[in-house]
Amino acid sequence: MKRVFLPHNLEELWRIIAGEPKADIYAGGTDLLVKLRQNLINTPSLICLERIEELKGVHEQGDEVMIGACSTHTSLLENPIIQRNFPVLTKALNVLASPLIRNMGTIGGNICTASPAADTLPPLYVLKAEVEIRSRSASRQMALKEFILGPGITCLKAGEIVSGIWVKKVPGFNLHHFEKVGQRKALAIAIVSLATLFKISGEEMVEDVRLAWGSVAPTVVTSNEIEAMLVGHRLSRQVLKKAAPIARAIVKPIDDIRASADYRRQVAENLLIRLGSVQK
Ligand SMILES: Cc1cc2nc3c(=O)[nH]c(=O)nc-3n(C[C@H](O)[C@H](O)[C@H](O)COP(=O)(O)OP(=O)(O)OC[C@H]3O[C@@H](n4cnc5c(N)ncnc54)[C@H](O)[C@@H]3O)c2cc1C
Repeated sequence: MKRVFLPHNLEELWRIIAGEPKADIYAGGTDLLVKLRQNLINTPSLICLERIEELKGVHEQGDEVMIGACSTHTSLLENPIIQRNFPVLTKALNVLASPLIRNMGTIGGNICTASPAADTLPPLYVLKAEVEIRSRSASRQMALKEFILGPGITCLKAGEIVSGIWVKKVPGFNLHHFEKVGQRKALAIAIVSLATLFKISGEEMVEDVRLAWGSVAPTVVTSNEIEAMLVGHRLSRQVLKKAAPIARAIVKPIDDIRASADYRRQVAENLLIRLGSVQK
């Protein structure tokens, strides 16, 4: 039987971590406890972050929003600050797993799992999110795209947790879009996903755009080249079709039980072309 610790605040957490340096940390447990049951990890003790209120909630601070790492997906879906400022994130949360998993799973857990298929990562990449990392004695902040090093690998060091995610508001971006292709319509892990933010002018011209594909490489894929090709044009299928071969070239997918690498390349292209029919 493993020992499970349930600290109620950060002070308690740091004390427990100091006494249990080999313990695994979890929040909702929807990734970690599954691995534990499958004997994929062996840990002497567990520390649960679920009861630490300081790690939950959404706080507006000027032109930035801080999302507590232990906020559940459901709480973020229901949050008016998130709904108003980051529709690209709510669109992804809406199709993440099932209501039951969304009630337990947290945004911090989704990030720290660092799965290539994690649904919150492409939206957080286009939003240029920063991760706040804390330990007993220090706090640091870094870009999410630097925090995630590969599948299941992050920059977290022993004794550190992710305490929050900082996201700048994106006022001019008037079209937020997220699409995920999976093996079925509900409770599907992404085969390919695409998050996009557009600034579209009154004349329907693309003034600015950010794109991020998920599940097509060890980490999220972005492309300055495609973004530059779209700026100054209408969002037409013709322009998107011209850019599509670049999408095929930059993704580095693998064959796995869900799809072949070649299918993923095709879907990465198709999701880009489909942006031509997205409604503002
Ligand atoms: C049936 C099922 C369906 C799923 N479908 C999807 C899906 O469609 N899309 C998707 O993206 N995911 C899916 N998942 C995966 C999972 O639900 C999400 O990744 C979820 O967000 C994980 O959050 P959690 O709080 O439960 O993580 P946990 O299991 O608690 O932790 C996951 C990892 O992150 C670490 N961790 C958690 N919080 C912190 C923190 N604050 N600081 C440092 N380390 C931390 C833990 O140590 C662990 O290594 C699914 C899981 C299941 C079981």
